[in-house]
Amino acid sequence: MAKNIIIVGSGNAAMSAGIAALEAGAEVLMLEKADEALAGGNTKYTAGAMRFAYNSSEELIPLLTNPADERIARTDFGSYTQEKFSQDLLGFNEGMPLSAEQQYLISNSYDAVKWLAGHGVTYEPIYSRQSFEKDGKLVFWGGLTLAAQNEGVGLYDMEAAAFEKLGGKIRFNAGVTGLVTSDSGVSGVMIGDETVSADAVILACGGFEASDALRQAEFGADWAHAKVRGTPHNTGEGLDMAFGLGAQRYGKFDGCHATPMDLHMKNFGNLDMPPKQRKNYRKICYFLGVMLNAHGRRFVDEGINFRNYTYAQFGRAVLEQPEHFAWQIFDSKVFDLLYEEYRFEDASFVEADTLDGLVAKLYGVDQPQALKTLKDYNDAVDGTVAFDPTILDGKATKGLPLNKTNWAQKFDTPPYRAFPVTGGITFTYGGVRVDNTGCVLDAGDTPISGLYACGEMVGGVFFGGYPGGSGLTSGTVFGRQAGIGAASG
Ligand SMILES: Cc1cc2nc3c(=O)[nH]c(=O)nc-3n(C[C@H](O)[C@H](O)[C@H](O)COP(=O)(O)OP(=O)(O)OC[C@H]3O[C@@H](n4cnc5c(N)ncnc54)[C@H](O)[C@@H]3O)c2cc1C
Repeated sequence: MAKNIIIVGSGNAAMSAGIAALEAGAEVLMLEKADEALAGGNTKYTAGAMRFAYNSSEELIPLLTNPADERIARTDFGSYTQEKFSQDLLGFNEGMPLSAEQQYLISNSYDAVKWLAGHGVTYEPIYSRQSFEKDGKLVFWGGLTLAAQNEGVGLYDMEAAAFEKLGGKIRFNAGVTGLVTSDSGVSGVMIGDETVSADAVILACGGFEASDALRQAEFGADWAHAKVRGTPHNTGEGLDMAFGLGAQRYGKFDGCHATPMDLHMKNFGNLDMPPKQRKNYRKICYFLGVMLNAHGRRFVDEGINFRNYTYAQFGRAVLEQPEHFAWQIFDSKVFDLLYEEYRFEDASFVEADTLDGLVAKLYGVDQPQALKTLKDYNDAVDGTVAFDPTILDGKATKGLPLNKTNWAQKFDTPPYRAFPVTGGITFTYGGVRVDNTGCVLDAGDTPISGLYACGEMVGGVFFGGYPGGSGLTSGTVFGRQAGIGAASG
């Protein structure tokens, strides 16, 4: 008889689990806390970018919405081997070897993306943010090449269509409040007073980034000031329910993905706008300039690596500065390289024709120190090295207490612009531990029968940082695992 499975949540991990479970012959009911407009969780707020290992452009072509795009012929996608993906994750592992979860993510990454393509999900090259034009070629950098067509909303729509086509059902406004157990293990869920029975439950209901109380408890008081970049609904209930049944706390609970965001954005992400404008609050081009805190000082090496490898950590760095904000400073040489969100009409910024004039407009800052920092920086820029944003160009400052390692250009071409930013949390890293069927493990590594988890809820995948585009791939890899596991367990 077909297994009857409940999936809690309706984001990418839930959809991947649902499609896999249906493929394996189960009947699936998805229960989503949000209404239909906000269903799809953080997945809908994403750029849809998915990081996966590939050996050549040949492996990308079958995934594309439009393989006949005239740009493809002059595109250098390079390759992104499993070894490179491993090195990228290891770079954030704070000295630890790859976890079993990371190895599983890497080795299943391409298969997962291709499997989704087999269910009608198609992808587009991320020309605007991941490539630069060089000698007539469009050269990709940083190993991240494709995003789902029409970004996160597109991914959700394509996945939901596949899920429903296979017979899956979704209930909106159905926030799960508890797990039901019987002698055989987890046997259903509670939605308030209502009990819904199932042979197995897959938790795919996100981390705790939208809970003020949990953020402060795990990360500290600074995090009361964090903007939430995505859904207000990921408040850690799934984790609480799992821990209530003895699930193991696993991974880095004081770790999270957080990026610099417009200081004046609303407290949560905004789904009301079309996808291209939805991300206009993110401010991650600091590598083309510098960031100053309220004391007028730089506090990170803005050019330490490609921004794919720094943006998820620098939100925390900003949030932990005095008054929890910073200014990003640029001159007009790089305006064309700034991502489009810097040019949207509601982007916050100040502008002046001199550095003195700009600094006079930086509110909340020690202005004399800010001016000194910018002048010292200008004096320290190595003028002998050419600027090249497609590579780690080694164009550095010399002799500063905190040098900038790459892409350090003088501020010498007015007008100058400064953008005020704060930290916005994207998602949390700590979670539950699952076995190789996606089943949740208790503190003694024994499976909790009937309880599965995937997506943001799985711990052990990210530690000190995050190579951009890995969250969605992780959701699909672990979602697929949980779907198959629950359908056949
Ligand atoms: C602005 C932004 C941009 C991003 N860009 C990218 C990107 O380009 N590439 C990338 O790889 N990652 C990106 N991410 C990260 C990515 O969103 C997550 O890794 C991914 O969406 C997690 O998927 P998920 O299915 O686990 O969680 P979600 O997609 O958040 O889904 C969780 C769902 O569970 C629901 N839920 C919560 N509690 C309950 C409950 N009690 N009962 C029922 N339902 C519940 C929520 O409403 C939500 O719909 C981005 C995130 C944000 C916020």
